[in-house]
Amino acid sequence: MFSEHYKFENKPLPYAYNALEPYIDEKTMRLHHDKHLQTYIDNLNNVLKDHPELQNMTLEQLIVNVPRIPESIQVPIRNNAGGVYNHQFYFANLINPSNKEPIGQLATYIKKTFGDFEIFKQQFKKAALSVFGSGYAWLVIDRNGLLKITATPNQDTPLTQNLCPILNIDVWEHAYYLKHFNVRADYIDDWFQVVNWENVNDNLTECLQL
Ligand code: MN
Repeated sequence: MFSEHYKFENKPLPYAYNALEPYIDEKTMRLHHDKHLQTYIDNLNNVLKDHPELQNMTLEQLIVNVPRIPESIQVPIRNNAGGVYNHQFYFANLINPSNKEPIGQLATYIKKTFGDFEIFKQQFKKAALSVFGSGYAWLVIDRNGLLKITATPNQDTPLTQNLCPILNIDVWEHAYYLKHFNVRADYIDDWFQVVNWENVNDNLTECLQL
């Protein structure tokens, strides 16, 4: 999905910091994008600067090749390439509140897999609530072309399990604590109001073409 390589840059959000109000607040978006994501980018660039052999690799290539890179940088590459990938993916699939529902092929897949959108939402919320500590819940396409909900801890990604991501929710506390405090369930409900289903449908199309 992302073709960039070293030196990674923190591109502006594709919407205003306050575009997701009142569901996700401006201050959270500013800190999340300008501070948290920026830190992952800086740390990743810092590790890669002494490894020219890795500098042409995309985030996805770095993430899936962790077992084949020097052992001393496996953990920082896993955490920071994952951190950049997961955040870019998260921000890219949000949009101003639109009350929309899944469209196109995605709507068909959700209906076929979960029965209806409400059941899907319940199951996705359950997965997001079940992440112990920090991590993400994901909607993915598996190698058989089936839609699945999964979760990852910390900054791990589903890419290493040969799963193709189409949607994620960041459930690290920094994603919601300023507005929703410790109530992750309320944040998940609000997050559903700002999902960019058109983008998610495009992600599905991309995954099915692999
Ligand atoms: Mn985050």
